Amino acid sequence: MSIMFISWCFVGFISLPQFQVLVNAQGTYSRGVYSDVVKIGGLFDGNDATEEAAFKHAVERFNSESAALRRFAFNAQFERVLPENSYDASAKVCSMLKGGVAAVFGPQTHESASHVQSICDAYEMPHVETKWDYRIRKENYLINLHPHPSTLSRAINDLVEAFAWDKYVIIYEDEDSLFKLQDLIKGSVPPRRNAILKLLPPSQDCRGIFREILRASDIRKILIDCDARKLENILKQAQQIGIMTYKFSFIITSLDLHTVDLNHFKYSEANITSFRMVDPEKPETQSLLREWASLTLNSDLATVSHGRGNYFVGDQSGGSSRRNVYIPGFSMEYETSHAIMIRTDIALIYDAVQLLGKALHILNQTIDVKSLDCDSSDTWQHGYSIINYMKMVQMQGLTGLVHFNTSGFRTDVSFDVIQLKEQGLTKIGAWDSKFVAKFNWTKLDVSEAEQDESAMDLRNRTLVVTTFMTDPMTMWTRSDAPLQGNARYEGFAVDLLHRLSLMLGFKYIVKPVNDGKYGKLDKEKGEWDGMIREIMDGVADIVVADLTVNKERQEAVDFTMPFMNLGISILYVVPSAKPPSLFSFMLPFSLDVWYYMAFSFFGVSVILFILARVTPYEWDNPHPCIEDPDELHNQFTFLNSFWFTIGSIMQQGSDIAPKAVSTRMIAGIWWFFTLIMVSSYTANLATFLIVQDLDVSIRSLEDLPKQTKAKYGCVDTGTTAAFFRNSPFPTHQEIWRKMVEMNKKHKVFMKKNSEGLKRVAEGEGNYAFFMESTAIEYNVERNCKLSQVGGPLDSKGYAVALKKGSKYRQAFSSGILRLQEQGVLDELKRKWWKEQRKENQCPAGGDSDSVKPLRLANVGGVFVVLIGGCIIAAVFAFTEFFWQSRQLAADDGVSVMEEMMKELKFALACRGGTKQVYKKSSSVSDNDNGTER
Ligand code: GLU
Repeated sequence: MSIMFISWCFVGFISLPQFQVLVNAQGTYSRGVYSDVVKIGGLFDGNDATEEAAFKHAVERFNSESAALRRFAFNAQFERVLPENSYDASAKVCSMLKGGVAAVFGPQTHESASHVQSICDAYEMPHVETKWDYRIRKENYLINLHPHPSTLSRAINDLVEAFAWDKYVIIYEDEDSLFKLQDLIKGSVPPRRNAILKLLPPSQDCRGIFREILRASDIRKILIDCDARKLENILKQAQQIGIMTYKFSFIITSLDLHTVDLNHFKYSEANITSFRMVDPEKPETQSLLREWASLTLNSDLATVSHGRGNYFVGDQSGGSSRRNVYIPGFSMEYETSHAIMIRTDIALIYDAVQLLGKALHILNQTIDVKSLDCDSSDTWQHGYSIINYMKMVQMQGLTGLVHFNTSGFRTDVSFDVIQLKEQGLTKIGAWDSKFVAKFNWTKLDVSEAEQDESAMDLRNRTLVVTTFMTDPMTMWTRSDAPLQGNARYEGFAVDLLHRLSLMLGFKYIVKPVNDGKYGKLDKEKGEWDGMIREIMDGVADIVVADLTVNKERQEAVDFTMPFMNLGISILYVVPSAKPPSLFSFMLPFSLDVWYYMAFSFFGVSVILFILARVTPYEWDNPHPCIEDPDELHNQFTFLNSFWFTIGSIMQQGSDIAPKAVSTRMIAGIWWFFTLIMVSSYTANLATFLIVQDLDVSIRSLEDLPKQTKAKYGCVDTGTTAAFFRNSPFPTHQEIWRKMVEMNKKHKVFMKKNSEGLKRVAEGEGNYAFFMESTAIEYNVERNCKLSQVGGPLDSKGYAVALKKGSKYRQAFSSGILRLQEQGVLDELKRKWWKEQRKENQCPAGGDSDSVKPLRLANVGGVFVVLIGGCIIAAVFAFTEFFWQSRQLAADDGVSVMEEMMKELKFALACRGGTKQVYKKSSSVSDNDNGTER
């Protein structure tokens, strides 16, 4: 909707019936309703009737609020002075003082205002101003509600710093406006920052300046300081020259950007930012605008389109069916009565009247206005108190907190930071003069509607996509025919981009990154390189590549949702097979098992030998034909015991068979033991003889710094190098130190993955390369010489990168999420990792880790059973022994203990395989073996 300048003269305005009511009401308040009526004067000198109308309305509003509380009322007096005519202004203020007023408001032009101020000072009359004045000075009887120039200057400087503008053009209206920009031009800005000052031509034609900006490829930022009424025209010129695009940013210093018709620019994507003092969402602002609406809608105000000097904004909603109603200083939508805007100086007039009212209320005295003659030196006794109370009062007005410091300057000022979006000006943050943190950025809720809008907007865009040529992300298409444009590239990233473009409707041009780098921050220069730099500079719109998200980069560009997860790992050669060992038959058992087996063999043989001697049932008649032998024979001699155990372990058996329960018990247990051990050995032996042992010198990250044979490195401008460079862990730090050191002689840092790969493959174990697991997976599938060593060292993701603050980020993130949910990302990964360009299939390599010698833990149970068996056998042997000793003791007529000791002595002497048989008739004698019965 085009802007409508209405002509509406002051006379016309006040002749409207509604406003006549207002004006007529003044001076008719009776002391019966209000305890007091205070006259105040207003001086107006511009062509603009708005301020005067606002003043009247402000008084009326105050009086209606005051009536409810039965306090005093204001009686407004007006004088219209000739613009910039100080003589007229002096005459009018004198006549006003003569009539007796409690305060003087206005006028607006600097010259008249200074004269009025000196008269007010002389007669101790409070003087209230609301206009921006670079000369805002400290006068005893003056109060100005407009923020001090130094406050504005600070806010503007802070905004430029917050946006990190380093090279920009300032277009300023006149020397006065430089006061607003003083911080920016001289003060606290870093020297690196480079501002080019351009004076706004008197003709207001800025096309020449904009053309120059367009030609200078490094300037993308423009600060415009001029009256809001000129802004629409200037922005239109920028549009004509072609700089009203997403590549350009504007800061507008006027506090009235919200009153400018920005409909033409809201789809331009240009970043237009400004400050605002009046919050249209505030209930007070809305109620004020509703009042104006009801005053105007009943009249034919909307169609009365005359009146000079007022500026208005069209319907920002863009809805053609809506009708806008324009009243001076305001604009609102007819249908919804939704307040859109109010000029800052108008809001300040409202606040000024309220402030005076509040001060008088707190002063709580009967205010007798006095007739003052400019020819006398008489002064007004209440003036000093009133102005001091006004400075003391704190209140929430339309322009935020109204609060003054002791010098009478507004303090604790806060501004909304607003930015032009498709839906109109939107608050993106707030600046507060009292906070050191300066800005409080609003976290914008991106509604689904907005997301859809940005996605819609993408439909008409052709994006320049920067990428990195690396397998299998972006590769040259293999084709016999010459290819053109995007067809020259293929790979995962290209397919992903294609899917996103189908989903979001944008077109794209793929271009490999110019400097062949991913993106690294040079901390000394504070400059980025690679794809990150291209995004920052606007050379490209997005990155679709194996670009890893990290904290540093996130500060420079915006990332979407990651589309692939990965971690850093080590790429190394497949270990070669070791020559087979001469003693490979030993391999099925670990050495300790062999030791334990030998010990068991020895132990069981000895136990068998002892138990066989202890148990009486192993003592046999050596000559069965002799019924009553003199001596008994035991087959388990020391040697025979060993022979028995070795025979069974070798699965051969022997001619010796145990007869006593105890010896049979131990034999059984030993056979069980040998059964398990021999089967385990046989089972493991086959594998050991087939599988070759590998010569592995690097098995994990920790092995790297310990060895000197293999050098190691990574891509120099990527996040892998950044990971080691910034890691707090000692091992990583040591690896980084060594890599930097090695790089001096051996160039271990590579430009891209393919260089590292080549070196690993050709290096025969002399080079290991830190690479992202996705790339390792891809290359290990294709090059059988390569393998991954160890697991991932970290966890991160690849994502699409866009310019900081890009409105398309959400649309891209949603697109990636949708592709993930539909399984498209998995499908693309399978296609490019497992299927495409896979010429050779690596033989499934024998994994040396899968065959391991059996450890004690594997076969420990068998040893336990063996020990248990031995113990039980021993118990049996001693039971049998005890039993036999009891009988012999009875026959001998000695005690069982004595008999047992005698038998035990013989058995444990371990000498001889025969013993003499005890015969009741025969005398006890020593036999050959020295055993006496
Ligand atoms: N993907 C990495 C990056 O975005 C590059 C490769 C690497 O550093 O290993 O920086």
